[in-house]
Amino acid sequence: MTFTTRFAPSPTGPLHLGHAYSALLAHDMARAEGGRFLLRIDDLDQTRSRPDWEALILEDLRWLGIDWDGPIRRQSEHFDDYRRAIESLAEQGAVYPCRCTRADIAAAASAPQEGAPGFGPDGRIYPGTCRARPFASRTPTDALRLDLTKNTTGAMPAFTEMGPAHGGLHEVTAQHLATHVGDPVIARPGLAASYHFAVVLDDAATQVTHVIRGEDLFEATFLQCSLQQQLGLPPVTYHHHALIRDEAGKRLAKRDNARAISKYRADGATPEDVRRMAGLP
Ligand code: GLU
Repeated sequence: MTFTTRFAPSPTGPLHLGHAYSALLAHDMARAEGGRFLLRIDDLDQTRSRPDWEALILEDLRWLGIDWDGPIRRQSEHFDDYRRAIESLAEQGAVYPCRCTRADIAAAASAPQEGAPGFGPDGRIYPGTCRARPFASRTPTDALRLDLTKNTTGAMPAFTEMGPAHGGLHEVTAQHLATHVGDPVIARPGLAASYHFAVVLDDAATQVTHVIRGEDLFEATFLQCSLQQQLGLPPVTYHHHALIRDEAGKRLAKRDNARAISKYRADGATPEDVRRMAGLP
């Protein structure tokens, strides 16, 4: 299979040095492998995504010398695909409606018999309060959750990690899912699919073989790998890279406009300067 990777920014702010590093690394790896480098716009959240951010991101990527293969995929154009996938899991009895608020979950999780409440890639680990509710009883104000215990596909999900911090094969045990992940929200009112659910479908739809992204998403990979398996999608190899941090050691965020690529450009930096700042050759 052709080595295929992607860069998937959310158009909710400017591209900063951390994004540029991730994009350049994925792009360089794809080119070195003679593979494909795809661009996806993760605009699931239509309340926060803006076309002018997307336009600026594309401009910055082109300025950095990044060229992508094929058309850009936008999540907002695939809401029906996500809904169909949710329905097929619902037919397997693996989706249930949930009306718990954050406060409900916090209260249930901190009940004395539950021990210390844990957090996973989908927030506070869901205690399963609504698990017995049938899918058919959903109302328009319910979120939908996936029952991870209903993964009856047989083999244990596993993924290969190639990044520097956690390299090797990682098995996704039922125990890990129960204690470190919890049943994830896969859709909620106003959001056709959750980020974890959509990326797994998007990566499979575009034949992505390698996901190259920041190590802040390493833990989320256990959830995404389990989703892949439950949806019958092919496994992906991961490379989680170190995050670029500011002088105080804090990871860069979209709000760090001082590190925006457009700001470096306006200040007269060259694409080579940005590569150097990101620690790339
Ligand atoms: N849109 C996601 C982000 O910016 C993509 C993460 C991923 O590469 O899976 O964090």
